[in-house]
Formats: sequence, C-alpha cells, structure tokens
Amino acid sequence: MSTIKVGIVGYGNIGRGVEAAITQSPDMELVAVFTRRAPETLTIETATAKVEHMDALLNYKGIIDVMILCGGSATDLPVQGPELAANFNTIDSFDTHARIPEYFESVNEKALEAGTTSIISVGWDPGLFSMIRMMSGAILPVGEDYTFWGKGVSQGHSDALRRVEGVKNAIQYTIPMDEAVESVRRGDNPKLTTRQKHLRECFVVAEEGADLAAIENTIKTMPNYFADYDTIVNFVSEEELKANHSKMPHGGFVFRTGVTGLEEENKQIIEFSLKLDSNPQFTANVLVAYARAAVRMNKEGMKGAKSVFDVPLSYLSAKSNLELMRDLL
Ligand code: NDP
Repeated sequence: MSTIKVGIVGYGNIGRGVEAAITQSPDMELVAVFTRRAPETLTIETATAKVEHMDALLNYKGIIDVMILCGGSATDLPVQGPELAANFNTIDSFDTHARIPEYFESVNEKALEAGTTSIISVGWDPGLFSMIRMMSGAILPVGEDYTFWGKGVSQGHSDALRRVEGVKNAIQYTIPMDEAVESVRRGDNPKLTTRQKHLRECFVVAEEGADLAAIENTIKTMPNYFADYDTIVNFVSEEELKANHSKMPHGGFVFRTGVTGLEEENKQIIEFSLKLDSNPQFTANVLVAYARAAVRMNKEGMKGAKSVFDVPLSYLSAKSNLELMRDLL
C-alpha cells in the first residue's frame, strides 16, 4: 500500500509534534516542512523530508496528499487556512471558538472551488471534547453539560502575565476545582460560577527591583483574564521557572449528566477526561489521525470544509473496517 504523503505548514510546538506523530504512523510519510522563516535556519528530525519556504508550496501540488497546518489561531490560520485549502487537502487546529463558523465559511468557499477536503478545528478542544459534547447531548437530550480544563498551561493567560509591567517571564496554570468536579461527578447538577469552576495559579519572574505587591494586584484585578477567578501568584526565579515549569501539560473533563425514563427517574452520567503531559504533542497526534481521514474523504468525493462532526469515525484508523469490527466492536 502506498503511504499518505504529508506536509507540515509552520514549525512551532504543534509542527514538531506532528513530525513526531508521523513517526508513529507507518501508513504516513513526511515529505516537507514549510515555514515563513529562512528554511536553512530550521533543523528538523526527519532526514528524508525537506525544509521549504512557504513560497515553494505550489511545487508540491499533486505530490503531497494532505497539509497539516500548524500555525497559530490568532493571525496565521485565518489567512493560511483558506489559502492552503485552495490547493491541498488540509487539517488545522483553529481554536478561537467564537470565530469557528466564520473560519469554516472562509475555508469552505476555497475548498469547494478547488475540490479539496479541509477538516478544521481538530485537536482536543475544539476537537475530541466537542465530539463528546455533541454525542452526549444527542444521547441524553435532558441534561446538563460541564467542561473543566486543566491542570494545564494556558498560553493566552501566560502571555497576559508577561505583558504586566515589571514581569520578566511567567506561566499560568488553569486548575479545575476538585469540589466542583466531584459535585458534577456525583450528579448533583450544580449551578457553578466561573470562580467555582477553575482556579488560576501564576508563576512569575519579576524584574529586579520591581514592586511585587503592585504586580500581584495588577494580575489579580485584570479584567477578562483573572478578575473573575481566585488567583494565586507565586514569585519565582528564572532558574526555577525553567526547571519546574517549562513543560506544556494540559487536559480536562467533559461531563453530561442526564436523566432518562418516563418519570425521569434515572440519572445517567457520561464522563470523558484527558491528562496530557504535552498538549502540543497530543494535539498533533489527533491532527495526524484526521489527516488520514481527510485523504480518504477526498478520494470518496466528500469535499469542502468539514468539522470533526462530519468525519466517519472509522476513517481515523489505519485499520480496515473488518479489522475494526473484529477487534473493537
Ligand atoms: P507556536 O507559537 O509554537 O507556532 C505557531 C507558528 O509560529 C509556527 O507555525 C511557526 O510558523 C511560528 N514559529 C514557531 N516558533 C517560532 C520561532 N522560534 N520563531 C519564529 N516563528 C516561530 O504555536 P503552537 O504550535 O504551540 O500552537 C499553534 C496553534 O495550535 C495555537 O495557536 C492554538 O490555537 C492551536 N491549538 C489547538 C488545540 C486544540 O485542541 N484544538 C490545542 C493546542 C493548540 P513558521 O514556521 O511559518 O515561522
């Protein structure tokens, strides 16, 4: 069987994770990594793959089966998503939840014109968590959804900390409140405020001579980011930050607590959770499984932009339908 030829567009945390994920997928082969930076400044791990400037993308039309887009959601993907969909099957992890419908439309227009297949907003949230929320709601129409994130590093909140005057470096963990999670797990169906669901813990390296009390106050009262939460601020040295806080763990829980029966007499609880040592590597593994699906969907005529809701589950696997039924059904 011939391998699926893959291109990586953008070589950051997710890009490196995709490269590693492809080594665990014998049915796939990395052909090239594309970057906006000077290609000679990047060193990749796969000896058989090339590093190319983005300008060379079109030379790979007809050679690469699927491009995995690894750019940032804020400014890279809104441009790269539609541009690439005009020439290749694509996968991306666009995660600005509020803008997904608009992003879908922009990619769909180009993909339909070109006859390509683009699966957008793949990953764990959006992605796997979205699938669980959708399936759980369909199965338990009378019920409540709960999503908790963490313990994990939030890039957006860490960036916000680094912009505070007097802060040299910083990282922020989002931590689900045990009491809230346990209450949902018991089926209490609690009404939870933002503050009751998550705690925010910050590790901050201050500039020399900075006013620590002022930094702490600015952080704890920052609207949108910290003001609605209980926030712990720890001041640490640069060495301590590097030694203890340079990994990118994450995870979370999705619950649906519903009731069934004519009298709604029985409680039914669905729980799905993830505990990830590396958020980007896990996200990358999800992207690679969906890349396999995009190629197959395109061959079968399912074109245009798609979300995780539109992908037949068995298409994620390298196994045949017979093998899946025999081993897993
Ligand atoms: P990075 O910041 O590491 O990389 C984003 C882009 O920045 C890269 O594609 C790369 O493009 C460029 N870049 C990376 N490193 C450097 C550098 N040293 N100097 C200059 N440019 C650099 O982001 P991540 O890979 O961590 O995340 C990408 C996106 O993935 C996030 O924006 C997030 O939205 C999404 N995500 C989605 C998840 C989900 O569950 N759906 C989960 C986690 C993340 P180039 O090579 O062209 O320069």
